Amino acid sequence: MSFRALFTTKSDDKQIETNLIEMAEDDLMPGDVTIDVEWSTVNYKDGLALSGAPGIIQSYPMIGGIDLAGTVTSSEDARYKPGDKVLINGWALSQTHFGGYAEKARVKSDWLIKVPDTFTTRQTMAIGTAGYTAMLSILALEHNGVTPEKGPVLVTGANGGVGSIAIAVLSNLGFEVIASTGRMDEEAYLKSLGATSIIDRTSLSEPGRPLGKERWAGAVDAVGSHTLVNVLAQTQYRGAVAACGLAQGPDLPATVMPFILRNVTLAGIDSVNAPYAARKTAWDRLAKDLNPEILEHTITEVNLEDVPETAANILKGKIKGRTLVKV
Ligand code: NDP
Repeated sequence: MSFRALFTTKSDDKQIETNLIEMAEDDLMPGDVTIDVEWSTVNYKDGLALSGAPGIIQSYPMIGGIDLAGTVTSSEDARYKPGDKVLINGWALSQTHFGGYAEKARVKSDWLIKVPDTFTTRQTMAIGTAGYTAMLSILALEHNGVTPEKGPVLVTGANGGVGSIAIAVLSNLGFEVIASTGRMDEEAYLKSLGATSIIDRTSLSEPGRPLGKERWAGAVDAVGSHTLVNVLAQTQYRGAVAACGLAQGPDLPATVMPFILRNVTLAGIDSVNAPYAARKTAWDRLAKDLNPEILEHTITEVNLEDVPETAANILKGKIKGRTLVKV
């Protein structure tokens, strides 16, 4: 039985191309669980992967898609049986192992999470790596003592996948949420997710002072670079900032002042290789603290054939909310 897959190849003259092809199950990579993929997503990282940016796809040809959710069709691991609904975020997908942009996937059982009872496979992908990363970031803030009583929390890259879901969860947890965005015209959308107020991202994106007025108890930063530096400089005494992204850039031209004078904590967030226990906690908390209905109006659905164009657009900052791939 053949199935459809989006195949990304690199030619001898280093041209990257992604085409829809028919594959056989025997062409899949080794693994102990085989899945009928129902949904995948387009994240910023998928945009980078399909553009051929260094550091994501590590061997060609590759099937992209860092997320997938679907139904187990066969399993050599006793924890999973045919019919189980499962999901994967990250691990080797789209780096060294075929990912979610195909109707079938064969993967390592250790990468799987069972879809929480409260979610459909579609809802887990509406959340996707972006939402799971947002939750890991919020868990890091909680771990560092940031509570609604301490003051507002800032979310940067607010219209993006991580930002949108961070706003929704934080608001649901009772936080006053300040959303930083380059798209001030999306105020209504951001407020519908739960943002209390909106600030223009240009107020944070240029080099600033080592310490500024203390404005927030914590922050989820998807942007990096000068933005993260300014976010740290304006974090309250003993506050915490979770750094999970680099939409502005990977640099961090900072001083140590927020750390040594305000006891601010900078918490790093990696979703790709996070251990099972951290993933399970994040998904359990998403099942409890996020109403998936609120994501409905953040979703754009595309088909496999639309993925290359969508992936290019996410790099241009043209995508709002979450993009689901109906596999
Ligand atoms: P999106 O592209 O959906 O969102 C990024 C958002 O950042 C945009 O919507 C935009 O929001 C803002 N932005 C874009 N360009 C700039 C810029 N030049 N300066 C300032 N802000 C900008 O991406 P995701 O939400 O999927 O991911 C966000 C970041 O998190 C990415 O860098 C991604 O690589 C990273 N990430 C990291 C993970 C990890 O494991 N650490 C996992 C998942 C993602 P607005 O228009 O509102 O300003």
